[in-house]
Amino acid sequence: MQWLYCAGVVIWFPILRKLVSSYIPVELRKQVEVSDPGRISFAARGRCCYCLTHAVVSGIDLSFDHILPKSKGGETTFANICLACRACNEFKSDLTEFADPVTEAVVPLFNPRGQSWVEHFAWSEDGTQVEGLTVIGRATVVALQINRATVRAARRRWVSSGWHRPKIKAGYSNGNGSCIARKFD
Ligand SMILES: [Zn+2]
Repeated sequence: MQWLYCAGVVIWFPILRKLVSSYIPVELRKQVEVSDPGRISFAARGRCCYCLTHAVVSGIDLSFDHILPKSKGGETTFANICLACRACNEFKSDLTEFADPVTEAVVPLFNPRGQSWVEHFAWSEDGTQVEGLTVIGRATVVALQINRATVRAARRRWVSSGWHRPKIKAGYSNGNGSCIARKFD
């Protein structure tokens, strides 16, 4: 029986540790969901703060990303939590910086809470790719694999169906909990 107990600890301890470390209090979840990434329009809710993929379009619930990973001291607070699609969250993992593919300088990744999406990114003309406008934007696009082939193919279909891309109107704000912009069409 001793070995059974040991096997149980070996199997369950990592799972329990992961569950505990990924726990986000319910009130904080609601606060983040309502604010990200634009609290004006209901239609704007439910988008990934990095690639702007809408959960309703992808059919996959968004996850809660620790902008500064917990493994690097990031806290589970509103200022450090944003909504992210599963792909962006997983590719970001515990990264906080990455090399800009143009200058090769290692720079911090985009911070959805402190920075504005439209200052660092733009959509390609056909709406299938996110283009980095700054060193931070370019490094983040590469690090999070935001333009990988599968999602480009998906965006092509979303565009042809009129589901994509979000049109961001002028007058965005940042640093106040609204991580992208004030309004989307
Ligand atoms: Zn994403």
